[in-house]
Amino acid sequence: MEVAIMGAGLSGLSCAIILEKNGITPTIFEHRKEVGDRFINGEAILPLLDPPIDDAIQFLSEQYGIFLKPVNNIQRLTFVSENEETTVRGHLGFINTRGRHKLSFEKQLMSQLQVDIVFNSKKTYEDLLHEYSHVVLATGDASFSEDISIFQKDLTTTVKGATIEGSFDPRHVYLWLNNTFAPKGYSYLLPFSKQEASIAIAFPEYEPQQADLLWDAFIKEVSHSLQQQIQITDQFQVSNYIVGLNKYPRIGNTFFTGNCMGSIQPFMGFGQLFAFLTGIYAAEAILGQGSYEAKTKSLIRNYKDSLTLRRLLESCDNQKFNLLVKSLNTETGKEAIRAKNHQYLTTISSLLKPFFSK
Ligand SMILES: Cc1cc2nc3c(=O)[nH]c(=O)nc-3n(C[C@H](O)[C@H](O)[C@H](O)COP(=O)(O)OP(=O)(O)OC[C@H]3O[C@@H](n4cnc5c(N)ncnc54)[C@H](O)[C@@H]3O)c2cc1C
Repeated sequence: MEVAIMGAGLSGLSCAIILEKNGITPTIFEHRKEVGDRFINGEAILPLLDPPIDDAIQFLSEQYGIFLKPVNNIQRLTFVSENEETTVRGHLGFINTRGRHKLSFEKQLMSQLQVDIVFNSKKTYEDLLHEYSHVVLATGDASFSEDISIFQKDLTTTVKGATIEGSFDPRHVYLWLNNTFAPKGYSYLLPFSKQEASIAIAFPEYEPQQADLLWDAFIKEVSHSLQQQIQITDQFQVSNYIVGLNKYPRIGNTFFTGNCMGSIQPFMGFGQLFAFLTGIYAAEAILGQGSYEAKTKSLIRNYKDSLTLRRLLESCDNQKFNLLVKSLNTETGKEAIRAKNHQYLTTISSLLKPFFSK
């Protein structure tokens, strides 16, 4: 068996680790010059958005021998709308880094592999299909699936973000729900040390000028909410980030993993856990340990519930966001955020739907 993995990101490297542990050495092709060769940003894993796994770090380590060190765990999550603010406390998830940061998840995964990675690869999918018995497509985007019309696109997003310097509680995450600067989207702050944090707004595709205006309003809001002046040290923008689902998780011996499969959960753009799991499941299927389609079914269900929530989010005006954030400021609201209820996405989306479609 000759396995090629296209893309040395979260799903490709997770797949490679499981294959190696089971005696198969894949060939990994990465088109950049090293693993994590992109802007640094903070990302999060929230059990709230990743059911049914309560503690992804523990799960990956106990079930699969994949060891990841987040930069911190999240103990406070503050929701801010135009006129309301609610902070929920508890063990709410993890913050990790990506890209060039020394502790980025992709660098941590690479260090758990024996095999060398082929960098600066120019190989196409067709080359790999020709040369290998199995191909894992893990390029972090849906471009190939879109080209051959097997991708159901649900939305496209621009994520405009920055690294800022200031004074932060590294366990305290902020989420803004405010159409003034993130219409039909959301914005957040994720600290990755006491001095550094990532901030970003995620919103549908707009004219560049409009994006700049939204950004300026957001920066003012961050300073206001945190009651401090912040300094931007790095900026990034990801445009045309496609959110959707591949119609086929696998075609013949080609496996679509991570974002190629549709890992980004539409509600808040979370995709890391889905990326790890699809990489692992593809490896297991290659090893003859079950069907990839069957293993990815529950992820697809989560995606669909998450899309329902996204559509609710898009239908909210600032008044509804105020109502929502206020309703979280009750014991029931806070318990819902902390809940370890595996069916929560289905429950929340069906509970909220009639309320928000009024
Ligand atoms: C700004 C931003 C913030 C995010 N925040 C969060 C968050 O807080 N929580 C969360 O859960 N998710 C978050 N996500 C989503 C998450 O990062 C992705 O879902 C996840 O990284 C997908 O993993 P992947 O393996 O599909 O792709 P990636 O991890 O992106 O890896 C793809 C790899 O393939 C390589 N590649 C691309 N094309 C080729 C090619 N032709 N040949 C060879 N190699 C190629 C790339 O260079 C890259 O190394 C965020 C995404 C963005 C953009």
